[in-house]
Amino acid sequence: MKNIVILGSTGSIGENALQVTAHLGEEIRVVGLAAGRRVQRLAEQAAACGCRWAAVADADHGDALRAALPPTCRAVCGSDELCDLVSASDVDLVLCAIVGTAGLKPVLAAIRAGKTIALASKEVLVMAGEQVMAEARRSGVRILPVDSEHSAVFQCLEGHRIADVKRLILTASGGPFRRTPAADLARVTPELALAHPTWNMGAKITIDSATLMNKGLEVIEAHWLFGVAPDRIDVVIHPQSIVHSMVEFNDGSILAQLGNPDMRLPIQYALTYPERRSSLIPGMDFSIARSLEFEPPDDARFPALRLARQALEAGGTAPAVFNAANEVAVARFLSRAIPFPGIWQTVEAVLARHASVPHPSLETILAADAWAREMAAQVPLGG
Ligand code: NDP
Repeated sequence: MKNIVILGSTGSIGENALQVTAHLGEEIRVVGLAAGRRVQRLAEQAAACGCRWAAVADADHGDALRAALPPTCRAVCGSDELCDLVSASDVDLVLCAIVGTAGLKPVLAAIRAGKTIALASKEVLVMAGEQVMAEARRSGVRILPVDSEHSAVFQCLEGHRIADVKRLILTASGGPFRRTPAADLARVTPELALAHPTWNMGAKITIDSATLMNKGLEVIEAHWLFGVAPDRIDVVIHPQSIVHSMVEFNDGSILAQLGNPDMRLPIQYALTYPERRSSLIPGMDFSIARSLEFEPPDDARFPALRLARQALEAGGTAPAVFNAANEVAVARFLSRAIPFPGIWQTVEAVLARHASVPHPSLETILAADAWAREMAAQVPLGG
């Protein structure tokens, strides 16, 4: 039996994770849940899974949570206590699926306490990949990817040496505007951008998929997770989202991981690793004619990948700035303050004004994050 904590339980990944843990039964015990502010849903989840504690980020929601939780479950508020709880001696694994930057502190606390990490929150590695991976090495902790592309690469790499890898090939659906002419992108509304063709996900990552920012974040994430140089991480558009990613080895052989696009599969693999259990995912039906298409990404219409590579190349605080500027720009697009192309224009403008600090401390990263948010809120920037 593994004792696990789910951070971001009320979100898309969190809900899927709870379906997986219910399916796995005795094998997994959920001891704690954490969310931002959806108190009622959090309390329902706590009652259903029988966890010992449930946490909300904001102290203002503490009373409401206390009132809603079953008497066997303790209400927790704020990030300090959360960091203590993820580090408790009987916790085996922490699944982090908090959107945005709030996952960084509890993940670092869990790593320092020697907990296995199942990581969905790509922001954690984008902001502080160097620091997080160094802490994981120091503590002898494994970071198991939950992002479907990284789970695919992880599975393809099993039993192989990273020295034998020629390149990683991350697949991208291309989003809903794969065929939209550049001139029409300015007319894209939040409603259109939120309708993802193949994956059902939270709002932020759905917009990131439409701009290809998500793939940019994933290139940075893959660099830190697998220790592969950025110029050996390629992206290919694959609209069917059946091939989740691939690894090409030095001899030219390519291994791919395939499956229906359903996040419960990579979540379950991270929870049961290194074992494989039956899952809730329907098998692939090859009696239905289907084709798998691949094409290169269009950098001219979607500059996100170029910007992500630029941030990775600059290193230091630049990826945190890339991430934070994008987060603000997505929120502004969703509230109709800026048009769709304004998202990458914001990121480009903020990155251009940033002087990256090499090998930053956590405080420096958080300061760069705050600076980027302030700048991004002001785009178009004067001067
Ligand atoms: P959602 O927006 O659906 O959910 C986000 C979760 O984070 C919610 O539970 C939310 O709580 C919680 N949260 C927000 N702020 C805080 C905070 N300060 N402290 C604690 N919890 C907080 O996001 P997704 O599930 O789509 O994505 C989560 C992460 O996983 C992201 O990093 C995303 O990039 C990554 N990911 C997602 C995939 C997907 O298919 N959805 C695929 C691969 C990666 P509340 O709602 O209660 O405020």
